[in-house]
Amino acid sequence: MTNFSDFGLAAPILKALAAEGYATPTPIQSQAIPHALAGRDLCGIAQTGTGKTAAFALPILHRLAAAPRPALRKGCRTLVLSPTRELAGQIADSFRAYGRHLRLSTAVVFGGVSIGAQERALANGVDVLVATPGRLLDLVDRRSLELRHVEILVLDEADQMLDLGFIHALKRIVKLLPAQRQSLFFSATMPKAIAALAGEYLADPVQVAVAPVATTAERVEQHVLFVPTGQKQALLHHVLKDEAMERALVFTRTKHGADRVVRHLARAGIEAAAIHGNKSQPQRERALAGFRSGHCRVLVATDIAARGIDVEGVTHVINFDLPNVPESYVHRIGRTARAGAAGVAISFCNGEERAYLRDIEKLTRLKVPVAPIPDGIEMLPAEPAQSAPHHAAGRPQGQQRHGHGHGRTQQGHSHAQGRGGRAPERQPEANPPRSAAPRRDRPVDGPVRLPGQGRDGQSIRWLERAVR
Ligand code: AMP
Repeated sequence: MTNFSDFGLAAPILKALAAEGYATPTPIQSQAIPHALAGRDLCGIAQTGTGKTAAFALPILHRLAAAPRPALRKGCRTLVLSPTRELAGQIADSFRAYGRHLRLSTAVVFGGVSIGAQERALANGVDVLVATPGRLLDLVDRRSLELRHVEILVLDEADQMLDLGFIHALKRIVKLLPAQRQSLFFSATMPKAIAALAGEYLADPVQVAVAPVATTAERVEQHVLFVPTGQKQALLHHVLKDEAMERALVFTRTKHGADRVVRHLARAGIEAAAIHGNKSQPQRERALAGFRSGHCRVLVATDIAARGIDVEGVTHVINFDLPNVPESYVHRIGRTARAGAAGVAISFCNGEERAYLRDIEKLTRLKVPVAPIPDGIEMLPAEPAQSAPHHAAGRPQGQQRHGHGHGRTQQGHSHAQGRGGRAPERQPEANPPRSAAPRRDRPVDGPVRLPGQGRDGQSIRWLERAVR
């Protein structure tokens, strides 16, 4: 289908899409909308950035509007489950935007905020409820919500849902739904566990798939810089000073790491905000709003917090730490180059992270070009001890050691724990892996020779290319 009108969507929806500026359906929309409109169950492999939200929201709105029914007290006609609060909020915003000319109600519920207002919002029932699993069950347990009359279930980012340990919540929720319903599953990847879930919960589903995880990587211009941990902060200042970095999303592996980066940047006069699981909902919303409006051009995030964040015009993704899960790299760099736009991803890689880089290159089947370190990048002095209680005072940033090693095996293990029910966000702060590090290219505490250093002119050429 090349036009939204070809789908037979109701006129008020087409009007809203025109106002959104959507000219043509994206591939996942072309594939999914006709089946979803026909009432089929669907299993879609698509990641954020492909237009998957509209792929389920548009047919749902159409079907709800075509068969209007008074909302039942404390009930909902459509239930959309999302792994994170940010994504839940964005999905609800999309339903509201696409359904603005329809007389349908949408509510969103997630943890971290008072439950009272959510109970009141549900009292008279809603057409569309977007929810994170934990809060949804709280509302059910408090008898403020009941799911017996749900007509359509959407499970968004199913792989993330499992990674975050929501499987038991999910199973409980599905038991509360009527067997007679339409179910739509979306997942960026299709590991066995998701396929099993789909087999259990979907009836004769249509399978649609777009842009396998690796192809996002092809649209993003990527660079990696080999840099010792102690120089990452200085390199980050240097890179962010460039005005072409209009909207930069910086990723760290841990929550404390994100806070530390924000503090260092503040000391260097660069305003940045952090978004991660330890931040309150108002703090997260403030940070996101500032980043969206352009008031704050640097947002520092952990993988989980950033998942599903949809901010247009992210010009650069900077991997301050490389993720130990290669798929996370693809998700991260997918924050730039959204909806077809070009983007640039710059990764800082210390000696111990090279194994992660190899895993990433294996997954994407692309070699990330190495850029030289710009001249004049210095080791930063240590952060004052009181603001970084986890660190041994006196050591330069990034050179503190925890008493135990964080080897590759351990990292892998902790990820496996995440899958088994423990949210990766809750992992203790980890320095990059040390004990079982595959290679240490240079002594961390010793004098450091940098690639590209001392070669005149070369040091900034990568940056010019990277930021165009
Ligand atoms: P999603 O994958 O749902 O997170 O959507 C990614 C971005 O693409 C969002 O900013 C949407 O507003 C945008 N988008 C979705 N569908 C279209 C379309 N058909 N044309 C242009 N932009 C779209």
